[in-house]
Amino acid sequence: MIRCAHCGAENLPNTLFCEECAKPLMKSQAIPVRLVSVGEGWEIKVVLEDEIIIGRQDPEREIRPHVDLNDYGGLEKGISRRHLRLFRKGQEVFAEDLGSVNGSFLNNRRLLSFVPEPVHSGDELRLGGEVLQIFFEEG
Ligand SMILES: [Zn+2]
Repeated sequence: MIRCAHCGAENLPNTLFCEECAKPLMKSQAIPVRLVSVGEGWEIKVVLEDEIIIGRQDPEREIRPHVDLNDYGGLEKGISRRHLRLFRKGQEVFAEDLGSVNGSFLNNRRLLSFVPEPVHSGDELRLGGEVLQIFFEEG
């Protein structure tokens, strides 16, 4: 069944328009995300299904972010264990700082903690001392 995002009605598979409210039924698809280090050139590819946490793994505290920046000097760069969350509403992507110590910046503007902001392909995200360019495409 496909659940209508507008009215919540359940529709049969392959239905294009909601039987209840006639709005188009959008099948939400996972979004490919590419994070490119502006300073160092490495990149990380992940698929955004519902959300992605970017941070540093800490098995002792059972913190296992989807993107672990320990291997990329995350500690020295001031990345928090749970630094930033990317999540999506339909095909729109939002970034939310998770109360990180050194902050998150979107295109050089500081994000208020726990206040999501929309992110677009090509935007620059700075987490502590690491600047990442984000792309929503297969690279
Ligand atoms: Zn509907």
